[in-house]
Amino acid sequence: MPRIALNLNAINSDIRLAESNAGREANSVQLLAVSKTKPSADIIEAYQAGQRHFGENYLQEALTKQKELSHYQIIWHFIGPIQSNKTKQIAENFSWVHSIDRLKIAQRLSDQRPESLAPLNICLQVNISQEQSKAGITLSELPNMIEQIESLSRIKLRGVMAIPEPAQDYEQQRKPYRQLQQAIKALNKPELDTFSFGMTGDLKAAIKEGATIVRIGAALFGKRG
Ligand SMILES: *Cc1c(COP(=O)(O)O)cnc(C)c1O
Repeated sequence: MPRIALNLNAINSDIRLAESNAGREANSVQLLAVSKTKPSADIIEAYQAGQRHFGENYLQEALTKQKELSHYQIIWHFIGPIQSNKTKQIAENFSWVHSIDRLKIAQRLSDQRPESLAPLNICLQVNISQEQSKAGITLSELPNMIEQIESLSRIKLRGVMAIPEPAQDYEQQRKPYRQLQQAIKALNKPELDTFSFGMTGDLKAAIKEGATIVRIGAALFGKRG
C-alpha cells in the first residue's frame, strides 16, 4: 500500500480508538488532512484512499492546487491567517474557514460569498491559552462576537477552532479544550456543532473533550521541508 494510504489508515484507526475510549459515537470525529506545502499528487493519493476534507493555510498555493484538482470532489477548508485583501478569493473557493478572529473578516466573507454557493461554514478561532503571540479572540469576547456573526447572511457559524499552548501531559492537554467546550455549551446554541480541536500531539485529549474535527498534516503526508 502506498505510504500516504498507510498513514491515513493508521490515523483513522487512532481516531476511531480515541472516540471509543472517550465514549464518543463512532465517526463523530472527522479528519481534516492539512496539505499545506504538499503537492497535488499527495492530495490525490489521500483522496484515492478515501479522504475528502483537506485544509490549506496559504491562499495562492491553495488556489493552484484547487485548479489542478478541480475534477475531484474535495471539500476545501481554509485554516491559515486571513488578510482582508484575500477574503474574496477565500469566499469564492472554500467550503469552510476555521481561522476567523475579527468581525471585519467575517463581514467581508459574508458580503463576498457568491449567491451560487451554499453559505460559507466558519469557525471562530479562540486563543484559549491567552498567549500574547497567538491569533484568536478571548473567551470573554466570544458571546458578543457570536451574536454579531450570527446576523451575517452568507456565512454559517458552525463552532470554534483552538490551538492551545503545547502540553505533554494528557490532563494538561484536556483543560483548555474542556474550558472552551463548556463555554460554548453554556450558550445553549445547538447549531454550534463543530469543535476544530486537536492535532497529532493532543488528539486523544481533544477527542475526549469534544473535538469533531482534528487537523493533521505531517503524520499523514510526512514532515514539511
Ligand atoms: C499546519 C497546521 C496543522 C497541522 O500541523 P501538522 O504538524 O502538520 O500536523 C493543523 N492546524 C493548523 C491551524 C495548521 O496550520
